Amino acid sequence: MGLPLHLAVIGTGIVGTATAAWAQRDGHRITFIDPLDAGEGCSFGNAGSLSPSAVLPVGMPGMWRKVPKWLLDPSGPLVIRAHYLPTVLPWLMRFLRHSSEKEVTRIATAIRGLLDPVFDSYTPLVQRAGHGAGSLIQREGCLYVYSSRESAQRWKWGTDLRRSLGVTMHELDSDALFDLEPDLRGSFAFGQYAPENGATTDPSALVKAIYAQAIRDGANHLKTRVTGFNQRDGLVKEVLLADGEPLEVDGVVVAAGAWSAVLAAQLGSKVPLETQRGYHVTLPNPTVSLTRNIMAVEQNIMINPMRMGLRLAGTVELAGLKAAPNYARAEALLSKGNEIFPRLTTEGHTMWMGHRPCLPDSMPVIGAASRAENAWFGFGHGHVGMCGGATTGREIANLVSGREPEINLKPFRPDRFKSWVGS
Ligand SMILES: Cc1cc2nc3c(=O)[nH]c(=O)nc-3n(C[C@H](O)[C@H](O)[C@H](O)COP(=O)(O)OP(=O)(O)OC[C@H]3O[C@@H](n4cnc5c(N)ncnc54)[C@H](O)[C@@H]3O)c2cc1C
Repeated sequence: MGLPLHLAVIGTGIVGTATAAWAQRDGHRITFIDPLDAGEGCSFGNAGSLSPSAVLPVGMPGMWRKVPKWLLDPSGPLVIRAHYLPTVLPWLMRFLRHSSEKEVTRIATAIRGLLDPVFDSYTPLVQRAGHGAGSLIQREGCLYVYSSRESAQRWKWGTDLRRSLGVTMHELDSDALFDLEPDLRGSFAFGQYAPENGATTDPSALVKAIYAQAIRDGANHLKTRVTGFNQRDGLVKEVLLADGEPLEVDGVVVAAGAWSAVLAAQLGSKVPLETQRGYHVTLPNPTVSLTRNIMAVEQNIMINPMRMGLRLAGTVELAGLKAAPNYARAEALLSKGNEIFPRLTTEGHTMWMGHRPCLPDSMPVIGAASRAENAWFGFGHGHVGMCGGATTGREIANLVSGREPEINLKPFRPDRFKSWVGS
């Protein structure tokens, strides 16, 4: 396999576009394959946080105690739709197995390696993209906010773990908190300021900017779905498309977000990929003014000032890829927003649901396929795909070009779920 390669990149979310942009720097020729425009999948409507501090997995110690409540409370932060419980149960059991203190420490250490270079990995891409792409990333830090210093104690174990991994978090009493964000007055009285964090003010536009430059740099986009691969002698020779002739390739990257498992299985890796469906509400004229990303910890909701308005995002719903959105979940976000900011104006708000691609250990799959030497995976970034997407792209480009990875990729290896027998 001589370099450069003709590389098919399946998926034009943040992972696929960043991978293409990094691979183009080595001279590889890119064909994107995705029925959607760039940045229209899960990368469209997320909370936009770019946080090297977001190292904690979703499954935290003691979480198993909350499972019965999740099943009964349709407006809680995590719901499982009853019809989907039998399907998701094996995944859920595995998820809970990864929530011990030992496992969480191992996972957080690995995720820290992926998230720490977030801005180093984005900067070359947005600089090259030009056209104001750099202004889509702000670096004002982020605030974790609580009703009181005492209530923050409930999250102390996780905060200490973050700090032990090098995350800077300054404690702010109420005066210092309101100096930074006057509109938080009322509901919060204690904050932790993570100065190294940032956010994108429009995740979809950020993906589109990277994609547009990739196209200007010669990439092509086939607007169809990949259905499989023709393989010979341990190599993918052709990518099979829902519409059109098979595409001859030298290599392939699977970055199809929550839809990646079927494709990965065809390339030899069975992975327990589940969708954690999340929702947002975006308020175009909120009459609340914030300058940075806010994590309201007790309410379990992210609040991000974006260029199209104030976005409230969060919640996890386990209901699979096919069930229709339940916008009551987004309404619940709106209610929380109204409680937090009594003078919030909600007129003209929009709602959205997206599929977070999630493995039970809250870590992505990044690495080479086991059954094809010229196939690589970059999917499963769960709640931190915007934070980890650009670094994943850089690392896949390293693998494609035969360079050593710059971060420890071992925890993300595709074959770590060998014993998985679920669907
Ligand atoms: C409410 C919410 C809030 C979030 N907040 C944050 C946050 O603040 N920070 C953060 O870092 N992350 C956040 N996330 C997570 C983040 O959005 C995701 O991890 C990330 O967008 C995943 O990117 P991706 O490129 O893997 O997938 P996607 O953006 O979903 O892209 C996958 C693409 O693959 C295409 N595709 C699928 N199947 C095929 C096929 N067979 N052939 C061709 N194409 C295919 C799809 O059409 C899609 O365009 C949030 C998610 C949600 C839902």
